[in-house]
Amino acid sequence: MGKIIFVTGGVLSSIGKGVTSASIASILESMGYKITLQKFDPYLNVDPGTMSPYQHGEVYVTEDGAETDLDLGHYERFTNVVLTRDNNVTAGRIYFDIVRKERKGEYLGATVQVIPHVTNEIKNWIKKVAKGVDVAIVEIGGTVGDIEGLPFLEAVRQLAMEVGKPNYAFVHVTYVPYVKAAGELKTKPTQHSVKELRAIGIQPDVIVARSEFELPESIKKKIALFTNVREDAVISAPDLEYIYEVPLKFQEEGLDKLITDLLGLEYRKPDLSKWEDIVDTLRGAKEEVEIAIVGKYIELKDAYKSLIEALTHGGIANKVKVKLRWVNAENYDLKELEGVDGILVPGGFGERGVEGKIKALQYGRENNIPTFGICLGMQMMAVEFARNVLGLRDAHSTEFDPNTSHPVIDILPEQKNIEQLGGTMRLGAYPCIILEGTKAFDIYKKREIYERHRHRYEFNPAYREMFENAGMVVSGQSPDGRLAEIIELKNHRWYIGCQFHPEFKSKPFQPSPIFADFIREALAYKREKRSG
Ligand code: GLN
Repeated sequence: MGKIIFVTGGVLSSIGKGVTSASIASILESMGYKITLQKFDPYLNVDPGTMSPYQHGEVYVTEDGAETDLDLGHYERFTNVVLTRDNNVTAGRIYFDIVRKERKGEYLGATVQVIPHVTNEIKNWIKKVAKGVDVAIVEIGGTVGDIEGLPFLEAVRQLAMEVGKPNYAFVHVTYVPYVKAAGELKTKPTQHSVKELRAIGIQPDVIVARSEFELPESIKKKIALFTNVREDAVISAPDLEYIYEVPLKFQEEGLDKLITDLLGLEYRKPDLSKWEDIVDTLRGAKEEVEIAIVGKYIELKDAYKSLIEALTHGGIANKVKVKLRWVNAENYDLKELEGVDGILVPGGFGERGVEGKIKALQYGRENNIPTFGICLGMQMMAVEFARNVLGLRDAHSTEFDPNTSHPVIDILPEQKNIEQLGGTMRLGAYPCIILEGTKAFDIYKKREIYERHRHRYEFNPAYREMFENAGMVVSGQSPDGRLAEIIELKNHRWYIGCQFHPEFKSKPFQPSPIFADFIREALAYKREKRSG
């Protein structure tokens, strides 16, 4: 089994524990170590698939079709690991397994308890992913002091004892607030959260102190003194302009050497040049394109995490800044789309905002603006085309109008009798065959690609011929030709919809081809507009 870095959080949530874990992983990977990452979420849902994006942010989909926490998106974007359903485990899933075993009588008359049954289960999950790697980075969701988090912290405490030093390290990510009235950074919340951690038997080895500002030496000293951590192990992690600067900042703070020392690993100078290049490109970009995102979860940007990152990556690929204009699909005026260089209609569930998305797509189609539809966005492209070009006035997806006389988006027979909601969609990577002579082929430059899915409805093959005759062609399809994976409009500069979610596979150093091409076209469009 590999060495383990446990990452816990203190004081506040949403301060960047996921990016911290991903950055540590990236540093170790660039030293040539084989790494993996795992996230435990203490809530009782079996996975976040059934939760509203408002509750939990985006649901990130892995290659094997697991619906996971958005931190797994950071993990994959910062490293080369391909994660699976074993890399995100919730309390709900653990209890679900245990209760099922109990009903089968597998505990042979024992009283089933949090300690040892739940804690053993947690330890087994960690051991499973830590097998075969040099280092596993295990992040515990939530903050220290949450009731729900206790079994996880107890389990990792036990596991640390089992494996012994130097086979583990505890990294605690806390928040150091700046109090304006006092003009000071305050360490008290950090002191308290470490006290809490030590009360349950965990002594952190490293404190990553998130803060609005750089931590002065005096504050580092103070934190070290009160938390019983070496002064050089208090890492200053101020807000940075780009998250992709974090690995560089960590190296500057000496976290690379510190981690290898703590784990008894040979120190090899990490090659972080790819992060330097990315940050240089982001900083150096002078031109800017503006993309409208017409969606319904726009109040919570976390709901579109991977999408926003993929657009940034598209910007990196073209050396331009990507500015986002958020348009609330439920209620907006078409004027709000004026002047944008591209329109993106993302995925979604439920009827709210659907007509607004259709209206934006019509605007993009009729005005020859680069327009990109993803999943529900692609489905609404088909609905808009059916209604306004083919003249099928009541065309719709049966998700929203089960009685439409033109179900251009419909449910497949295999999805019809599904009663449970969790984990029952078309999920994960599927092959897509790209047809030569299409824009999709110019973009991907290959015949076969794999992209990730998360949806229940599909383009209805009964309408394919009618669409194609009118200029909306299927340019990517399932190997059997039955499912439309990509559709595109022939007589338009860039009007493309995909049934999959290409944002999940985009990385800063490996931008998704379709996002990169969308931004390229938006830039070309902008330049043409300017030169009149
Ligand atoms: N609601 C649509 C479906 O289930 C689209 C889902 C999505 O956009 N992810 O097919």
